[in-house]
Parts: sequence; C-alpha cells; structure tokens
Amino acid sequence: MRKITIIGGGQSGFQLAIGLLKNGYQVRVVQNRTAEDLARGKVLSSQCMFGDAIQAERDLGLDFWSDGACPPVEGISFVVPHPEQPGEKVIDWSGRLERNAYSVDQRVKIPRWMAEFEKLGGRLVMKDAGLSDMELYAREDDLVIVASGKGDIGKMFERDATKSPYDKPQRALALTYVHGMTPRPEHSAVNFNLIPGVGEYFVFPALTTSGACDIMVFEGVPGGPMDCWGDVKSPEQHLETSLNILNTFLPWEAERNRNVTLTDDNGILAGRFAPTVRKPVGTLPSGAKVLGLGDAVCLNDPITGQGSNNAAKAARVYMNRILAHGDRAFDEQWMQETFDTYWDYAQWVVNWTNMMLAPPPPFILEIMGTACVEPRLAHRIANGFDDPRDFFPWFADPQAASAYLAELRAA
Ligand SMILES: Cc1cc2nc3c(=O)[nH]c(=O)nc-3n(C[C@H](O)[C@H](O)[C@H](O)COP(=O)(O)OP(=O)(O)OC[C@H]3O[C@@H](n4cnc5c(N)ncnc54)[C@H](O)[C@@H]3O)c2cc1C
Repeated sequence: MRKITIIGGGQSGFQLAIGLLKNGYQVRVVQNRTAEDLARGKVLSSQCMFGDAIQAERDLGLDFWSDGACPPVEGISFVVPHPEQPGEKVIDWSGRLERNAYSVDQRVKIPRWMAEFEKLGGRLVMKDAGLSDMELYAREDDLVIVASGKGDIGKMFERDATKSPYDKPQRALALTYVHGMTPRPEHSAVNFNLIPGVGEYFVFPALTTSGACDIMVFEGVPGGPMDCWGDVKSPEQHLETSLNILNTFLPWEAERNRNVTLTDDNGILAGRFAPTVRKPVGTLPSGAKVLGLGDAVCLNDPITGQGSNNAAKAARVYMNRILAHGDRAFDEQWMQETFDTYWDYAQWVVNWTNMMLAPPPPFILEIMGTACVEPRLAHRIANGFDDPRDFFPWFADPQAASAYLAELRAA
C-alpha cells in the first residue's frame, strides 16, 4: 500500500488526505492545531466556496453542510458608491449564481473533517512539523506534501518572482462574524462594495459554531481610512470599527446592521500578507523532495474570495495525479508537472485576483457599469467567481472588453 504524508490539515490537506484514504492509500496528516484549538480559536477565513469547489468536496462525501445546515449564497452583487454624493451609488447590479455558494466556518469544517479522517483509518499526528520531521516522513513514505497554508514552514519553497507581482501586502484585512444582520430583500448574495482608493467591503451569509451568521470582510488599501485595525484592542472595538466604516462609506450596508452582535469574541480577525506564488518543489537538507499544495505555494489576497476554492481544486488535481501515477516513484518531474497541471487553472485566478488589487482602469469600470443595464453581463461576472478562467480575455484587456461589450449591445 502506498504511503503519503501531508503536513497541514486545512482545506487542501484534509480534502486530499480523505480522498486518498478512500482510494486505498495509507495517509498520515501532521497538524499543529487540535480540533479543540481550531473550534475554540479565532476565525481563520471567510471561506466562501462556489459550485465547483463545493462539488469537489461533495464528490468525496465531505460536504456535510449544504443540505440545509449552511445558508446558501445565491448571487453576487456589486456596488460602487458615488464619490461625492454620500448615500448614492454609481454602479449597482446583482447576478444570480447558477449553483449556490456556501461558507462553512473552518472552525466547524476542519474539526469535522479531522474526525472523518480518523474514522476512515487515517493517522493524525499532532505536531508542528519542521524540516527534521519531514526528513523522517520522506524516508518512511512514498510522498510528502506540504499543505501548511500561511504557516512558516512554507517558506522552504522559494518565492517565484515571475508569478508574484507584489512583494508587500496590498490590503489591510479584517473579518467580523455577526448574528442579526438584516437579509438582502431579493436573494442572498456576496454583496461586494468597491470604494475607489479606500478598499472593498463584502458580506455574505455563512455557518459558524453558533449557527447561521453573516461574515463581513474588509479589504483596506494600506495607509487609507479602512486600514484602521492597529489600535483595536477588544472584540467590542473591532465590531465598533466595522460599523464605523459602514456608517462612513456604505450607508446601505450600515442599515442592515442596526441589530448585529458578534457571533463570539473569536469571530474577528485582522492582518495582512503579500500574495505569493512559490516554486512547488522543496528540497530537504538530505536532498529529498517535497511538494507544496494550496496556500503554501499559491497564496492569493482574499479580495476575490478564491483561496479555499483554489485549495479544493488543487487537492482534486493532486489526487487525480497521484491515482493516475500508480506505483511509479513520485520524483521531482512528477511533482513539477502536478503543480503545472493545477497552474493551468490557477494562473487565471491569480491574474484576476492581482488585477483586482490594482486601481480599476476605465475599461473595468465600463464593464462593471454596463452590467447595471445588461443582466447577461451581470450573470456572467457573478458566475465567473466559480470559474475565473471565463474572465479572460475580456476582463483583462481593453480591446477584448470593448469588442465583447459591443457584441452584447448588438445581440
Ligand atoms: C481574511 C481572509 C478571508 C478569506 N476569505 C476567503 C473566501 O471568502 N473564499 C475563499 O475561497 N478563500 C478565502 N480565504 C482563503 C482561504 O481561507 C485559504 O486560501 C484556504 O484555507 C487555504 O487552504 P490550505 O489548505 O492551503 O491552508 P489552510 O486551510 O490554512 O490549512 C493549513 C493548515 O496547516 C497547519 N500547519 C501550518 N504549519 C504547520 C506545520 N509546520 N505543521 C503542522 N501543521 C501546520 C495550519 O494550522 C492549518 O491548519 C480567506 C483568507 C483570509 C485570510
């Protein structure tokens, strides 16, 4: 029986581990936080996952929540407030998703998957793995995969400057999980608000440890008025700061929050990181090779809500590649080709996400403005979150954009 060790039990690590277990592999997951630590700790993400990524989980019997436990996200709305007239919007549209999206708090999901992994016979080692541990695993097993998210051990993979245009954080991030938000009138959605020069705010329903909730995500341009979390000292202040931002810039969102309370004192997060793609094959001091997976080697800013989606899709690609490889050795070439297969998809997500971090050029504002009067365009943009490859080339290139918009007008 082939033996595989995965360092890091998060979205990608456990999804791959359980997929491999179900296919007869012997799998060890090395994880540095217990189920209890995770369930009682701070929120980790806003983890909104779209149809295809949810399907990847469902195919492995890992979607325990979309049948009613987790409130669905049924669409995407997009708003740009008027720069001079408070309370007015210059762009405002919404599009329905063809398949619902779902956000299950990782404090709920990962402990459940951990239990499932052990139930299926997986070996869980509670440990903060370092290089010497990996040397041991590489000697004992056929393959070591590092799925450590933003954990420091991922720095063993060299940053790939050709795929990483930014070397500094592009947004000050904050999450606020609340109960009591007034639902959108039409259908549930990711409400995405873009405030030029200030940042972005998006919000959507989710499932957390205390039931249904809404998650607010703040993406502040560094140094701007939404980069304001440094002096926040308590959960109460975090909520107050969140509401102040909405009162100042987005009164229609503030209106939905008259009666909100934090889900729990740990339903908050603030931080920042530079989006970074790394070379996928790492070399241990002995010369043994390990393969990176998920955020460890492809870390995106959350502005487009793609990280967990990417992690799920990467885990699916890696699983299929491992199964197809049979009994052959998992050498460096196989590792590189495995990442490249994933990168065929992920490059578009990374490009789109990095574009969204830059100030929107006029042709993007034209696309977004046209979607207000062109429901087919709103629908296409909304569903692009499920597969961002569909944004290319028309969302990336001014000429392709104007040709596509002309085609839409003519139709
Ligand atoms: C503010 C914010 C909002 C986000 N919103 C969204 C969103 O709406 N939609 C979306 O798709 N994505 C979102 N993401 C991104 C998403 O959460 C991540 O991309 C996803 O969880 C990555 O999965 P992963 O498996 O690569 O890593 P993780 O899920 O981070 O798992 C890594 C695991 O490895 C463990 N670990 C680390 N180092 C070690 C070690 N040395 N030894 C043992 N274990 C170790 C960690 O404790 C962790 O459990 C958001 C992220 C942030 C920060």
